Amino acid sequence: MTTALVTHADCLDHVTPPGHPEQVARLDHVLHALAGLDLTRVTAPLAAEDDILRIHPAGYLAGLRRNLPAQGFYQIDGDTFLSPGSLSAAFRAAGGMVRAVDMVLNGDAGNAFCAARPPGHHAERETAMGFCLFGNAALAVKHALDFHGLQRVAVVDFDVHHGNGTQDLLWDEARALVITSQQMPLWPGTGRIDETGMHDTIVNIPLAPGSGGAEMRAAYADRAFPRLRAFAPELIVVSAGFDAHRDDPLAQLTWETEDFAWITAEICAIAAECCAGRVVSTLEGGYDLKALGDSARAHVEELIKAAR
Ligand SMILES: [Zn+2]
Repeated sequence: MTTALVTHADCLDHVTPPGHPEQVARLDHVLHALAGLDLTRVTAPLAAEDDILRIHPAGYLAGLRRNLPAQGFYQIDGDTFLSPGSLSAAFRAAGGMVRAVDMVLNGDAGNAFCAARPPGHHAERETAMGFCLFGNAALAVKHALDFHGLQRVAVVDFDVHHGNGTQDLLWDEARALVITSQQMPLWPGTGRIDETGMHDTIVNIPLAPGSGGAEMRAAYADRAFPRLRAFAPELIVVSAGFDAHRDDPLAQLTWETEDFAWITAEICAIAAECCAGRVVSTLEGGYDLKALGDSARAHVEELIKAAR
């Protein structure tokens, strides 16, 4: 089996103001870093409106469409912007995850990585925030549950920021286990251990500023992986943010590139035990361009090894 790389050039048309960390060059660096790897390259389709409406209300989508600027920017909050190409990019990022889930569940790929932007894990049900418009990871989970009829889907979110959007969108979803690690304290401020969801299916793993690979590996071995194995997921969705890297300018964890390889290999090993290796990963953060490219490559190399 192969690893699918799902992306679309429209994702480069979501433009942010000069100096903004979530910049077009991020995706260029990731795609450049993945050049030459043995991947099945797939064009991300536009998500169907029904896919978006599985997780966001119609009024939210209408608001984004209404505010989409003909030129320049529309500022949603302190750091989240719309440019003329933002909604096409967001529909490709969401549609790419739907396509990736379809491919992996239909046996057309062993696992998949969606290299797209805008990212998704901060987007709550009715609130775009933290550079995110649609909850791509939660949308993939709902598609697997509601369209494919799975009973148990897990999310592992190792972005340095709390996956507050994924937590919000899946808070009351008993069929989804959400494991999210984050530096604390750090924006957006949520992600305490006692945030466990309506059905005790949310697992928050706060990490102190300065924590490195050793602390991360211990925390995942103690708290994340036993829960993940016990849940026996039929699919694992990964929110792959690379901003816990020591060179990242937005946070203070000190993971190395090989820590991203380690966590990916561990997730893939559990997927091999539970669900024939079925993993669908989506790009979230990562703002030092070199660290982002290197870490994304390390992540995808492990996906490729696992799919073989
Ligand atoms: Zn982040």
